Amino acid sequence: MAEKNTNTNAEAPKRANFIHAQIDADLAAGKNDNRVHTRFPPEPNGYLHIGHAKSICLNFGLAQKYGGKTNLRFDDTNPSKEETEYVESIMEDVRWLGFDWEDRLYYASDNFPKLHAFAVQLIEEGKAYVDDQNAETISEQKGTPQKPGTESPFRNRSVQTNLDLFERMTMGEFNEGEKVLRAKIDMASPNMHMRDPIIYRIMKAEHHRTGNNWCVYPMYDFAHGQCDYWEGITHSICTLEFEVHRPLYDWFITQLMDSDYRPRQIEFSRLNLTYTVMSKRKLLELVKDNHVRGWDDPRMPTISGLRRRGYTPESIRNFSDKIGVTKVDGMTDVSLLEFSVRDHLNKIAQRVMGVLDPLKVVITNYPEDKEEILSAVNNPEDESMGRRDVPFSREVYIEQSDFMEDPPRKFFRLGPDREVRLRYGYLIKCNEVIKDENGKIVELHCTYDPESKGGKSSDGRKVKGVVHWVSAKHAVKSEVRLYDRLFTDEEPDGHKDVDFKEFMNPESLKVLNNCYLEPFVKTAEPLDHFQFERMGYFNMDPDSTPELPVFNRTVPLRDSWAKAQKK
Ligand code: ATP
Ligand code: MG
Repeated sequence: MAEKNTNTNAEAPKRANFIHAQIDADLAAGKNDNRVHTRFPPEPNGYLHIGHAKSICLNFGLAQKYGGKTNLRFDDTNPSKEETEYVESIMEDVRWLGFDWEDRLYYASDNFPKLHAFAVQLIEEGKAYVDDQNAETISEQKGTPQKPGTESPFRNRSVQTNLDLFERMTMGEFNEGEKVLRAKIDMASPNMHMRDPIIYRIMKAEHHRTGNNWCVYPMYDFAHGQCDYWEGITHSICTLEFEVHRPLYDWFITQLMDSDYRPRQIEFSRLNLTYTVMSKRKLLELVKDNHVRGWDDPRMPTISGLRRRGYTPESIRNFSDKIGVTKVDGMTDVSLLEFSVRDHLNKIAQRVMGVLDPLKVVITNYPEDKEEILSAVNNPEDESMGRRDVPFSREVYIEQSDFMEDPPRKFFRLGPDREVRLRYGYLIKCNEVIKDENGKIVELHCTYDPESKGGKSSDGRKVKGVVHWVSAKHAVKSEVRLYDRLFTDEEPDGHKDVDFKEFMNPESLKVLNNCYLEPFVKTAEPLDHFQFERMGYFNMDPDSTPELPVFNRTVPLRDSWAKAQKK
């Protein structure tokens, strides 16, 4: 029932952006033998989030548009934070989004030998040196953008000494922090990244792929651009904060180049969403400290969380297309993401009736042992989805909120002596309200109009209200999880002296465990999408068991926040 993912590359984005113009110019100039080759380069130190989805859609979308290729490359240069679990989740998420890297799966770590050899080459050319100072001192000597840095006392070691020390660093002779290898560029450069950046450090950590083979690891900045170069990337798309790193990447490539080919780096602004934190470090904190149930908690902005919440790959791709690609940093309203999923689910979601807060209705003039099968539309937006059978019997559940004992005139639902239509069924009229000893309403006694099946009343009287319902004896008892935003502040990590967790919404999860759904949901499988009529879009959670199906609300039918803000 859920749309199946076919793993072929999803449709290319339709919206033109400034990157297209730059690629067009490169193609027009005959660069790179007319190749367009991009990559998506995640660091496997957490699960992917919706910001990464923007980058994935962009990179794979460019390759599709220009008949090019996209690599998946794990930038795994930091063994202390990286794990195989993350690698696997990232591959699953990229595939789920609808993209395929075919046989082009790469790891920066595969290039450790080449990177090491390149570092040795730089030493031999007098362009790198071993520094014995600690990180703090090196950082102090860096100066400020206005003030040139101070040269390290170790800057002018001989090539022979540097080769020897770097070799011994590599063999594990020194402890972490005792020595680093730095590129010898320019301590007075106006670009801080050019002031003799560290390119190799000692780390005695086990790497998820190379195990304990290495005692020295390249810095991200020393690996990223070279990997692009070795993979033949033509357009290296990254977020704006890397713009200032570009001269350094170019410097390394210049030392390495053996033809006039070099990857062209193009920066775009990262996605920021209101009411959301996006950095993997902060998301990891939420997971580790059990503020959420895991990386795929449906409240998380991770791709796995959105999937579990009921988002579709199409809705995320449409969202990415709609927000566009620019160089201007900004904040995107999270309701745009919610709009995208609502829009797609409206087209594809199976309709069913589900009562989340039940009130029993006994139809006293309906025979006790009688049952009927009524017919309901599966999706009014898509006739090809057909119809389904809905059982009806003497006792049904309706929503508590669809009854008021003392209703105002404009309340078009049920009240004493009032009449409503049961969706796809009969008109019923409330005759009696049954209460328990505390005065709480426990049951309604109604009568039905046997002539009103299929829409009209027997005598032409008009009945405005229509409510959803579920036959009590056929209902599937279920758990339903309702979600609200994880944070109550528009920019939870935008406050200088307040931790983002201070803004966590204590009511972001509400579990209802006395919900009754139409028997049709027995056919559902985890992640299948539904619209519970009038209540929103839902999907089946993988926590479901045959005894207790569990459903997540993806989004309500309408944007309740927009309404609340208008008031
Ligand atoms: P975070 O800061 O959230 O941990 P990151 O940039 O460190 O993210 P990487 O794994 O290095 O995460 O990112 C992989 C790719 O995804 C990079 O090319 C990066 O530019 C891109 N990316 C990361 N976050 C966003 C975002 N919010 N919007 C768009 N692209 C992003
Ligand atoms: Mg990063």
